[in-house]
Amino acid sequence: MKITDLKVWLTRPAGRTWVFLQIDTDEGISGVGEASSPGGGGSILVGRTIRLLKEASYTGEFRDTLIGENPMDIDRLWHKVYRRFTALGSRGLPTAVVSGIDIALWDIKGKALGRPVYDILGGKFRDKVLLYTHVNPSKGPKAAADHAKRLVAEGYTALKTDPFSEEMGPQHRRYTTGTISPQGEEKAEEIIAAIREAVGPKVEILIDAHGNFNVPTAVRLMNRLSKYNLTWFEEPCQPESFDALQQVRQQTDVPISVGERLYTRYDFVPVFKNRLADYIMPDIVWTGGISEMKKIATMAEAYYIPISPHDAMGPLQAIAGAHVMMTVPNFYRLEFSRASLEAHNGCINPPLDIRNGYIHLSDRPGLGVELNLDYIKAHSDPDWEG
Ligand code: MG
Repeated sequence: MKITDLKVWLTRPAGRTWVFLQIDTDEGISGVGEASSPGGGGSILVGRTIRLLKEASYTGEFRDTLIGENPMDIDRLWHKVYRRFTALGSRGLPTAVVSGIDIALWDIKGKALGRPVYDILGGKFRDKVLLYTHVNPSKGPKAAADHAKRLVAEGYTALKTDPFSEEMGPQHRRYTTGTISPQGEEKAEEIIAAIREAVGPKVEILIDAHGNFNVPTAVRLMNRLSKYNLTWFEEPCQPESFDALQQVRQQTDVPISVGERLYTRYDFVPVFKNRLADYIMPDIVWTGGISEMKKIATMAEAYYIPISPHDAMGPLQAIAGAHVMMTVPNFYRLEFSRASLEAHNGCINPPLDIRNGYIHLSDRPGLGVELNLDYIKAHSDPDWEG
């Protein structure tokens, strides 16, 4: 089998831009993948880079990476694409590109063998994949508590929120001083207290700090909120300083989760080696795709660390993550954006099968879904020239 074509579409049906791609072969089998990146700009960069793999006029590098290759050689092609970028910096944009391609290659392999991806990844460790989802904190403690109750009534048993977001949200991806005002801190506690009171002691509460804090602020917030029995405090500090994370860890008992902005197996080595996190949360469309998620999960397994894939983009991210999590023993939960469900289902056929806080995968070959190009093109990102 040979790869004959590579197509990419950027769509923005629900506030964020999602990058979908399709790899075609000479045997009529096509695989689909996702390589979405935060912010319209991020996805545009990824989409254009993917297109270079087909369209670059210089034939020695990007253009010869995929077309003409055997799509069954997933690991070799992963390395071939990834290593193209080593001189540019091999994390972030390059790993998003690799992720989308890797997911599509697994879809092709599954379809060629007539088996679902989870089956050829090692087979089922479970029949369905447990999710967690998000409480909207933006309308205050009472509204957050009501939202939490509605999600619990739908069957969700773990809820995540960023209670600092009213003050820190405008600084998202714009880290400056790493501090929060006393008012912002108090508001955050009111939100978490209201959610805990609404859902009772058995529902798990997770906090996402989005890396917005310096060391003393993160430590103070974590210790202040620990009485609400947090399952984890996510990204207390920005991802580039493992020393900062270590300092935070030494000053609190609140469990820590990191990893959405760690790319490839290599970035997770210091986390495991220095015991920096209780949970890891790699992102399948950022860290390197299905292959990389499986490898990172196995590394975590050797350290008895649970894995909980980050999920904030489009539907193939959730589906690809679910396929890997079907196969790993050390699984906690898969993140799922309940608020994007309608847009997710617009992009794919058949729709996601979400029931009672779980995602169920079918036994159809490959990922088990196809892209709905009519919907994707109808919501094309205006900054994407097609
Ligand atoms: Mg996060």
